[in-house]
Amino acid sequence: MEIVILGIVWISLAMMVGALAEHWNRSGLAWGLAALILTPILTLAYLLVAGNAHPRCPACLGHTFSGASTCRNCGQEITVPQTRPRETV
Ligand SMILES: [Zn+2]
Repeated sequence: MEIVILGIVWISLAMMVGALAEHWNRSGLAWGLAALILTPILTLAYLLVAGNAHPRCPACLGHTFSGASTCRNCGQEITVPQTRPRETV
């Protein structure tokens, strides 16, 4: 009986990881399958660390691809802040 409950929890967590990945413009199917095959907890932890690294659009706050010049959601032009060169003393 416990194995059935464990299976239901496992599949539910994998689907949640897939939904979260989809929300962050990642492949929900691929992340869901990865969570199903690997451990959902481990996959979720990796998604939380690496999955949300995309910059956000200043207009609609949607996630965009890093290096994109326009937002894929609203078309707003995205300006990447330039890194200042280090001052030598
Ligand atoms: Zn936008």
